Amino acid sequence: MQFIRFLRVVCVAALVTMPIVALQFGTTPLTDLVRFVMGSPHDRYAVRLTWGPEGGSHAARGWLEAAQASVMTPVRLKQPQYTFRFAREAASAGAIAVTLRRGQRYVVETEIDGAGAEPLFIDVLRNEGTTATSVAHAPEAGGPINVEIDADGEYIVRVQPGLHGDMTVALTMRIEPTLRLPVDQASRRSIGSVYGDPRDGGRRDHHGVDIFAKHGTPVVAAASGIVTRVGTNGLGGNVVWIARPMRGETHYYAHLDRQLVTVGTRVEAGDVIGLVGNTGNARSTPPHLHFGIYTPGGAVDPLPYIAS
Ligand SMILES: [Zn+2]
Repeated sequence: MQFIRFLRVVCVAALVTMPIVALQFGTTPLTDLVRFVMGSPHDRYAVRLTWGPEGGSHAARGWLEAAQASVMTPVRLKQPQYTFRFAREAASAGAIAVTLRRGQRYVVETEIDGAGAEPLFIDVLRNEGTTATSVAHAPEAGGPINVEIDADGEYIVRVQPGLHGDMTVALTMRIEPTLRLPVDQASRRSIGSVYGDPRDGGRRDHHGVDIFAKHGTPVVAAASGIVTRVGTNGLGGNVVWIARPMRGETHYYAHLDRQLVTVGTRVEAGDVIGLVGNTGNARSTPPHLHFGIYTPGGAVDPLPYIAS
């Protein structure tokens, strides 16, 4: 009985204090518990600052506000490097905005000077208007961020040292493709027609990219996967479909002169799967590979995947 009475007191106390806490910090113990368990190192530090011995202090509040404010006013760069300087007396955070596309890999490397014992938090956040959600963070022990982007949009790199951070953080960012170009010896210049180009006098859109090469050039798998279809159709001619089940994507290779794989074959990136040709509706055009990427939501633009 006594235990039940105790529980009741705890519940009432929680119900009374939660709105007060929520008003003061814009957060509740429950949401913070979830953040602590599921969140990034930055999230955990923020929760510790809110509820720990420094919770509610001027410095702690300044740190939490700086984290939010930085995301609202990121810098936009023309060059892929930037250096932030953080001083012990002013809790601050820095942020960089970058537009990224599905299929790109985003790498952020850091060089830190004068960190001492203070932690440093570097997060890549997806800007969703009023909120920003972390999609990747640097390892707590230090090291680069390396993240495959799965939605087009604006992203923010936020850099924030711990409460008493006194350090210089130099960032170098780069964007890389996540797939290899699926034609042997091809380069960015080999891509002659892109996603969305009109087809059949504007009656339909081009749902892939065309990579031009000499007749008979090896076509290679853009990524590892399993061959799910090898066949012929009116538009694509000789085609090969390769699924990437873990990514929920299927790759489509069309206009092949010949297919060199069979259904069920497991391929690695770079394995030869066929030869460039002009079968299907490419009969009257120079030989090229039509490469498409399909998701459960439909076709997506392959260009950021192969030539970022
Ligand atoms: Zn095409």
